[in-house]
Amino acid sequence: MSKGLIRSLDRRGTRSDMSPPVARKQTFRDPSVCDRCAAVYSAKVWRRGRRLDHVMMDKAAWVICPGCAQAASGEYHGRVLIEAPDDTKRDAIAARIANVERRAQTTQPERKIVSSEWNKKTLDVLTTSQKLAHRIAREVEKAFHGNARFSWSDDDGTLLARVTCARPATRKRVR
Ligand SMILES: [Zn+2]
Repeated sequence: MSKGLIRSLDRRGTRSDMSPPVARKQTFRDPSVCDRCAAVYSAKVWRRGRRLDHVMMDKAAWVICPGCAQAASGEYHGRVLIEAPDDTKRDAIAARIANVERRAQTTQPERKIVSSEWNKKTLDVLTTSQKLAHRIAREVEKAFHGNARFSWSDDDGTLLARVTCARPATRKRVR
């Protein structure tokens, strides 16, 4: 039996988290590792991009992190509708969004894109996080000379960001 496994058996039955239980919130053992994205849960936060050593792999509880659980069930809290100026910008917009998600995930793995689909010239992006939706909208606005507007759903508080990007031909030259 490996040292890691013995340690994990010893830990069994001890409460590692003494904070009061929160309704509907899943509690995780410290450390836990997400079976899907390899995010590590320790000291009450999920982090991604940490290198797992064999000790950690032995002793960690393998779970599904909140971000992956949400993504799996299609649950979202942010939505970004991006109207592309023309078809030539599609790939660039998609790449920019993927980049924003990647950066967000290094510190906050639970913030991720649930889906992104083109519907004619509008890209419909669903995210697990309002903050991520906001960041995506701002980045696209900045990179593609767009205009972002934000509103929240009265029903469930979901953030809706609409970004319209100007056509390069009609854009006013500032300089
Ligand atoms: Zn995960």
